[in-house]
Amino acid sequence: MNNTVNNLQDLLSQRKFGEETFAQLERNTYKYTTCGAWIHESDWGVALGSIVEGVDEGTQTYTLNYPFTIEEFWEALQAVEDEAAEIWKATHGCEDCHDEPHASPLHRGRTWRSYRAWPINPDCKTCEGEGVII
Ligand SMILES: [Zn+2]
Repeated sequence: MNNTVNNLQDLLSQRKFGEETFAQLERNTYKYTTCGAWIHESDWGVALGSIVEGVDEGTQTYTLNYPFTIEEFWEALQAVEDEAAEIWKATHGCEDCHDEPHASPLHRGRTWRSYRAWPINPDCKTCEGEGVII
């Protein structure tokens, strides 16, 4: 089975969502990811990422240059989901999650200085570890 993606047409057919245009791919990527990921198209590939509501920064940009495999595409999309979830958990605690401000968590060697360092407390009774929209 050929799982190599050499262009946008390959990507659309190998995703098996019945998409025919980049706009459909873009809409489904937003709709069917928990974080509401974005995808950009260029002549040499695609880039994926996500903004996180309430914080200044989003995830890293994950770039895939042709040719890549469909598995690499799904892995990149999952990495975006995982990173967006980590940022959410580190920043979206409710006011009862902690009594004192928490130190900024470290993430891949970079400090989230620009994020409000108010992580979700998984044991919080008020938000039940879900956090709040900020
Ligand atoms: Zn809470």
